[in-house]
Amino acid sequence: MRTEKHLLTPCVPGTTRELVSLHFGRSGGRKVLIQASLHADEPPGLLVAYHLRRELAALDAQQHLRGEVVLVPMANPVGSAQRVLGRALGRFELAIGENFNRRYVDVSAAAFASLRGEIDAGGVPSVARVRVALSEAVAALPASSELMSLRRALLGLAINADMVLDLHCDTEAVMHLYTATTLWPQVEPLARLIGARVSLLALDSGGEPFDEACSMVWTRLNEHWHRHTGSPAPWPHACVAVTLELRGETDVSHDLAMLDARAILAYLTHQGFIDAPPPALPDAIGDARPLAGSVPVVTAHGGVLVHRPLLGQQVRAGDCIAEVIDPLSGESTALTSVVDGLLYARESVRIVHAGMPIAKVAGTAAVRSGELLSV
Ligand SMILES: [Zn+2]
Repeated sequence: MRTEKHLLTPCVPGTTRELVSLHFGRSGGRKVLIQASLHADEPPGLLVAYHLRRELAALDAQQHLRGEVVLVPMANPVGSAQRVLGRALGRFELAIGENFNRRYVDVSAAAFASLRGEIDAGGVPSVARVRVALSEAVAALPASSELMSLRRALLGLAINADMVLDLHCDTEAVMHLYTATTLWPQVEPLARLIGARVSLLALDSGGEPFDEACSMVWTRLNEHWHRHTGSPAPWPHACVAVTLELRGETDVSHDLAMLDARAILAYLTHQGFIDAPPPALPDAIGDARPLAGSVPVVTAHGGVLVHRPLLGQQVRAGDCIAEVIDPLSGESTALTSVVDGLLYARESVRIVHAGMPIAKVAGTAAVRSGELLSV
């Protein structure tokens, strides 16, 4: 194993932080990038990375890795240090309020521009050549703040990978994942192995999350190609990127983390990154649905949130999934689902404000548009 340290732009002199990446196997061939807790207050991925590290070191020592696996065991040193009035706050950067998993730059135009000479001369740059251009485009991104330098460092590690697994969690949730609609055939075995209760698919979730910056760049490169040459797209979907939501933020145990780490390694084996017999694929316990069919339940009143025990259950439109209690009036307001679907995530706080989403229900029909991810 090789350790790399990537220095971030210090906010002020004397406060330099570093991003650490662990490199297993051999570089130069196929590559997997796994990162944990880009939202720094989402700890299940950190424990999964702890178990992955041990397993990957053993596989590496036995020379069972085909290609390179890069593990970023703590993807957000900036957010990890944020604590306000005793509480860890790792979803947004406190200085400017930006979500750490948004605003990853689409470098397809810059990479395509650098390949134009070769394309205009009649060539079709190879995937490997395009990856070099993508890496150069990321390296040229500005890093004038600590947050920008973190985004550049993370994207630089992932942009030339064949596979990117971004480990997150929700507040209280069952296992689920997000990926691009076009990648579903390649991701479906992972959904089975990890036991995803639902897989949420979109081509453009809005907000430029990390996984889409890595995977959709190939779709956009092909669009540039088509616009420029008028001929069909030459490149495959060369990066399979997935955001894995490892249940809820308090679902942190060695038993769960070891199960998840083994499922991830089984998927890597299935995809040919590990030299071992292919795993048997269990039956799916969930299905794929449009992210545009995931509808939040929003409370119109503040008060005490009392969930019904429906997490992981199918609910019908109109079903009461929680109550909000007003201690002053003595009234209780029933919160109902808008759609039929799987109640896959819900709020973990029990005092809520008016206007807050308190649960998410995944329906089967796309009914929303625009920004599809929560803030
Ligand atoms: Zn997250």
